[in-house]
Amino acid sequence: MEVNPFEMAKQQLALVAEKMNLNSDAHYFLKRVERSLIVSIPIIMDDGSLRIFEGYRVHHSTIRGPGKGGVRFSPLVTLDEVKALATWMTWKCALHNLPLGGAKGGVCVDPNKLSKRELERLTRRYTAEIISIIGPDKDIPAPDVGTNAQTMAWMMDTYSMQYGNTVPGVVTGKPLEIGGSPGRSEATGTGLFFVIEKYCEKEGLDLKSMSVIIQGFGKVGSIISKRLYENRTKIIAISEYYGTIYSEKGLNIDELIKWQESGKLITDFKDDSIKLIPNEEFFKIKCDILIPAATENQITEHNANDLNCQIILEGANGPTTPKADEILNKKGIVVIPDILANGGGVIVSYFEYVQDINAYYWDLERVNKELKKIIINAFEAVYKLVKEKNVSYRIAAYMIAVSRVARAIELRGIFP
Ligand code: GLU
Repeated sequence: MEVNPFEMAKQQLALVAEKMNLNSDAHYFLKRVERSLIVSIPIIMDDGSLRIFEGYRVHHSTIRGPGKGGVRFSPLVTLDEVKALATWMTWKCALHNLPLGGAKGGVCVDPNKLSKRELERLTRRYTAEIISIIGPDKDIPAPDVGTNAQTMAWMMDTYSMQYGNTVPGVVTGKPLEIGGSPGRSEATGTGLFFVIEKYCEKEGLDLKSMSVIIQGFGKVGSIISKRLYENRTKIIAISEYYGTIYSEKGLNIDELIKWQESGKLITDFKDDSIKLIPNEEFFKIKCDILIPAATENQITEHNANDLNCQIILEGANGPTTPKADEILNKKGIVVIPDILANGGGVIVSYFEYVQDINAYYWDLERVNKELKKIIINAFEAVYKLVKEKNVSYRIAAYMIAVSRVARAIELRGIFP
């Protein structure tokens, strides 16, 4: 049985509300989303036929600032998934102390089955349908699963055409040439690396001698693989939805990235040390660090007991269910949660937004330096609470995030 992601987000909030004695009104308030917009997106396909796709944009909370969060194009998108992802964005932005709220969008579509022109029409019509609730002061979309810098360029152009002037700050994750930020496309993976490096330093572990397995080799999985490989940490398995590759002596990540960039599947990569294994075996592989970098609902009560790692570094949003969390806690596996570990993406999105609004652009060195500062600050605060209160990293991260949002509600009061 699949766990409904929004139910899961509410369970996580309920758990932490109890631990931190959250005021019951704040809990009541925060388990709801502020607004959900459901839109129909009619598209004339290349063959002249009409198709209508369903899309969503959800604001969970704009208490601490404009909504922020990606847009997902996937055949699995549902309103409840988008609500969960918007809720997680609220906690993520609050934990990293960004002056932003939580939002998310999605269209139920398989982007691989559309031509480039069809995708452009879909993106533009989706943007037009949600235009009343997005904008630099309202809600700033960004890429997520199934979308990329090109999608953001079309969104920015559609919004700008409507407003009569170029508005780069309406979306982040844009191409560099039209107001994107250096380092944005790698930011989630780079942030994951900063976090695991710091964790190992604090715990007296040698990251270089550890073995890692990674689920997903997309925008997040490939970059964290690259950072770890540059650090000489061994990546022994990578799993994609179509198959898993395993090499005891470690995978050559530079070659694998080149291979994938040339349009080939990683399971077709030829190397004598590589074995193909079934996806069901992936989570059982003995390793030090497991990085889920695909989607939610991957580590569940059904496979948590099989895990053979010491640390889980969550690159994806919501990869571990609350029931799995309980099992992992008992097994002594440390879970560094999504809202802390994968915050690099939205942190650099925030920098991009600041640069767009000021029309003054930073270099990569400054972006990475400031990214490190923000993500390590959040890590230190979480680490301190873990040690002080003897709670999991997820509970500690949520305690900090939820208390910031609850405090903002208290300060602002309820209108009218
Ligand atoms: N989709 C990314 C996330 O889940 C980035 C969101 C953003 O940059 O606004 O964190």
